Amino acid sequence: MSSQVCSKCRRIIGPGDLYYSLLIKVSAGFDGVINIKKDKIDLKEEFEKVKSYPEELLNEEVFKEYKFTLCPRCKEIYCANPLNLPLGDPAQGN
Ligand SMILES: [Zn+2]
Repeated sequence: MSSQVCSKCRRIIGPGDLYYSLLIKVSAGFDGVINIKKDKIDLKEEFEKVKSYPEELLNEEVFKEYKFTLCPRCKEIYCANPLNLPLGDPAQGN
């Protein structure tokens, strides 16, 4: 096994050293409700619009995956506040 590098601090992680894999998956949620603002929707027109977008861009709108390697210190920092919320934010439960 060759050395790896922490994705955050760039520290070298040697063979056998402790490290963490961070996998972040972001996917579009769907609550079953489709909001249509226009009175009439031209399905053909909408389909043509969608067809003109690059496929990768459409895929990224729906699902995106990130993979990182973290050293133990960066893992602790990440886990303490994954969304980088301001300290004392009620959503953090502090
Ligand atoms: Zn690190």
